[in-house]
Amino acid sequence: MKKTAAASVLAALWALSPQAVRPAQPDDEAARRKIAHDIFKQLIEINTTDSVGSTTVAAQAMAQRLLDAGFAKADVVVLGPNDRKGNMVARYRGQAGSKLKPILIIAHLDVVEANRQDWTTDPFKFIEKDGYFYGRGTQDMKDSDAIAIANFIRMRGEGFVPDRDIILALTADEEGGKFNGVDWLLKNHRDLIEAEYALNPDSGTVRTDKPPAVEFEAAEKLYADYQVLATNAGGHSSLPTPDNAIYHVTDALAVLQKSPFPFELNAVTREYFGQMAKIESGQVAADMRAILATPPDPTAIERLSRDPTWNSTMRTTCVATMLSAGHALNALPQRAEANVNCRIFPGHFQEEIRLKLVGLFDDPKLTVRTKNSAGEVADRGTDRKPMAPAPLRGDVLRSLHTVAGKLWPGAAVIPIMEVGASDSVYTSNAGIPSYGICGVAIDRDDERAHGKDERVGIDSYYNGLEFYYQFLEALTTAR
Ligand SMILES: [Zn+2]
Repeated sequence: MKKTAAASVLAALWALSPQAVRPAQPDDEAARRKIAHDIFKQLIEINTTDSVGSTTVAAQAMAQRLLDAGFAKADVVVLGPNDRKGNMVARYRGQAGSKLKPILIIAHLDVVEANRQDWTTDPFKFIEKDGYFYGRGTQDMKDSDAIAIANFIRMRGEGFVPDRDIILALTADEEGGKFNGVDWLLKNHRDLIEAEYALNPDSGTVRTDKPPAVEFEAAEKLYADYQVLATNAGGHSSLPTPDNAIYHVTDALAVLQKSPFPFELNAVTREYFGQMAKIESGQVAADMRAILATPPDPTAIERLSRDPTWNSTMRTTCVATMLSAGHALNALPQRAEANVNCRIFPGHFQEEIRLKLVGLFDDPKLTVRTKNSAGEVADRGTDRKPMAPAPLRGDVLRSLHTVAGKLWPGAAVIPIMEVGASDSVYTSNAGIPSYGICGVAIDRDDERAHGKDERVGIDSYYNGLEFYYQFLEALTTAR
């Protein structure tokens, strides 16, 4: 769409005075939604699965959108380790000569596999139905990819000049695959994405239940898999012996089930429970205050541990997720194997937890080894560091409070420790503190990321669009 002269003048004034309140423009609003809708649709309909898809196609399509909107060619690049795993990096130029380091936004383009026969609709068609957008990636996370591109286009159209550069990296292989885009960019083109801190809309959420809350990720647990294995000579099942591979493994798992890891807090989870205590009431609120006391109250810990999210927020968790054993109905098992999946509290390492499991099982017949995502087994844990909890920066928090308060009046702003894992582990471990902030509200009972019939509320999407626009401006407007 061509910009009219009047719009240009307005844009120029807007740029001179970013804090001026620009009069509402209903036409603008409809046009902006249309662009954001079309970008979202385009992304959903480009298959970016690891098996047959291509993030390069999506990266190129998004780069073209920015170039069409007037971004300089030198500021928009598509690059990657091979022709199917491309990443897009775009730089929104801030004030010339700014001494401030850029803000980086990372958002993955790839999606989890989706089978047409499992879904009600075609997962790679953007379907609008019952107030929702359906399609693979509508929650995780093509909504946020589209929002970032649409807002770059909007800000540029309005002539907005941030106080520093804003870099957007749309990347490959977060969900799986061998070519994680954030890792690859950090190792091969660090200069392109060097930043003071990173925003990653892949975690964090808006809760619109009562009371409303904006949760943002400032820490993350470390992922690990362990193979617990027993082998035996086997034999005829009519002649059982006490030494049985299946019993070795199941005994170990029974011990694991009854042995929670110790209670821990860090600066982020301390703040989380402090904030939650204000939202919750009665016994739960009292328990939250009691675990923050010195020493923490063990009965309060015990009660809160019954909630899976709070349990996982207070400790390392390890749980049996797979089991395979035996080779015939009438034979003693020669082999029994379990997978134990752990989510490690920041500050601990894979090898440390492996040794803890060995000590806990206390069975010389068992081996406990680590397993990577390709299923390869190793005797020792990797030295991979968990994401260091990010400092709760005043400028980020203030902007988040202000904008969240406008869009969701009365919303509490609560830091969380993500119990899953995201690409923030790479940026954070590379010395770029990372915050998981997403303005798209998902109902607690409608989390469909990775699942079938993935969808996002149409209103949630457009609110998220407005949220990130205001948030980016708040972060980069001289105060
Ligand atoms: Zn994701």
